[in-house]
Amino acid sequence: MAAVTAAAAAAATSPRSWRRLFRWRALGARAPCGLPCSTRGLSGVNEFDLLVIGGGSGGLACAKEAADLGKKVAVMDYVVPSPRGTSWGLGGTCVNVGCIPKKLMHHSANLGHTLRDAPAYGWQVAPSVPHNWHQMAQGIQNYVKSLNWGHRVQLQERKIKYFNIQGSFVNEHTVHGVDKSGKETKVTADHMVIATGGRPRYPDDVEGAKEYGISSDDLFWLKESPGKTLVVGASYVSLECAGFLTGFGLDTTVMVRSIPLRGFDQQMALLVTDHMESQGTKFLKHCTMKKLEKLQNNQLKVYWNNHEENKECLDVFDTVLWAVGKCETRRRGLAPLPLSFSFSGATRWILGSGFWVVAPWVLTDKASGKVASWSALFSMAFFVVVRVFWYNE
Ligand SMILES: Cc1cc2nc3c(=O)[nH]c(=O)nc-3n(C[C@H](O)[C@H](O)[C@H](O)COP(=O)(O)OP(=O)(O)OC[C@H]3O[C@@H](n4cnc5c(N)ncnc54)[C@H](O)[C@@H]3O)c2cc1C
Repeated sequence: MAAVTAAAAAAATSPRSWRRLFRWRALGARAPCGLPCSTRGLSGVNEFDLLVIGGGSGGLACAKEAADLGKKVAVMDYVVPSPRGTSWGLGGTCVNVGCIPKKLMHHSANLGHTLRDAPAYGWQVAPSVPHNWHQMAQGIQNYVKSLNWGHRVQLQERKIKYFNIQGSFVNEHTVHGVDKSGKETKVTADHMVIATGGRPRYPDDVEGAKEYGISSDDLFWLKESPGKTLVVGASYVSLECAGFLTGFGLDTTVMVRSIPLRGFDQQMALLVTDHMESQGTKFLKHCTMKKLEKLQNNQLKVYWNNHEENKECLDVFDTVLWAVGKCETRRRGLAPLPLSFSFSGATRWILGSGFWVVAPWVLTDKASGKVASWSALFSMAFFVVVRVFWYNE
């Protein structure tokens, strides 16, 4: 963070580099939408200079940068429990149900591989070393909780007010929030950043999908092993989860409708799936799910169509994990935005979008029109804050 702040100071004292970044500004002090650059015109009575809705990678980076520039900042973050009832603390997807627990699970799986290889390198380990999910999950979940706490402390240190409430807009400078006990709060700010991220999607047309299936939001918080698992989808989330589940020695199958890793280099995608198959992950290709039924012993009976062989199939699994993509949180109605302007265009790249004039910046997983990584969100957050608070736009 210190490096980023130093970079902000350096960049801001170097107008040439900023002109390169924001060419339209250098060319005529008018935004592409034709509106004047000065956006303030604000009442000056708002409680905060900046309110960030969403305490994930993008939102927290944005809030911290603004506070470091001396602004009065608030962050609003609220996790709606998954259909299974899983919820977590401050830090968003990456910290709680994304990059961090995922990488720790990969590390655990890799340790298993190393143990299996160890005798060939002279280590006297038992021929079969069992994996204990409960113990691993407890360690990972405790670590994630320590990160939640760390984020709280970092906000406090910068005097950023944290609201654990679910926000929705009243107008462009006012957000209404409700906490889990139903208590209501109104927060006003000169500037708003919407950094509400996304959540895993469930199919609407598969009977039992939501009732009996889980998503990555649940997987990382399971106390016990998921057992024999069917992972539906061929996204990177799907393949990564299937990879470490296989690594733990679990019977793991991936159901693919069309191609794996759509949008990625297909030669690389094939290398990935070939390698996974060689490690024991099974693939059901050209298959679509029909329905899930819960059996008396709590296992799941799964029915699907195999389009290549033109036949109906079924099998029994302990867990069905949906990894069929994400939907933006605000599209799920979690951040209703009854404002006079349309948000449809705002899913484009935030810089230079017409929305900067009205007040809110949109900083979501899909802000650039592509899925953004947490690191991209950090940079986006930095640019937003510097433009708003350094250039007073
Ligand atoms: C399994 C998995 C693995 C991943 N691995 C990687 C990886 O290795 N590398 C990488 O770069 N990226 C990875 N990602 C993607 C990365 O996690 C996301 O791109 C990033 O976390 C998105 O950050 P964000 O700030 O936009 O949103 P989020 O982190 O989702 O934060 C948004 C926050 O806003 C809250 N919120 C939503 N609506 C409201 C509201 N109305 N009021 C208040 N709060 C609200 C949400 O509950 C959430 O806490 C992974 C994702 C997943 C699911």
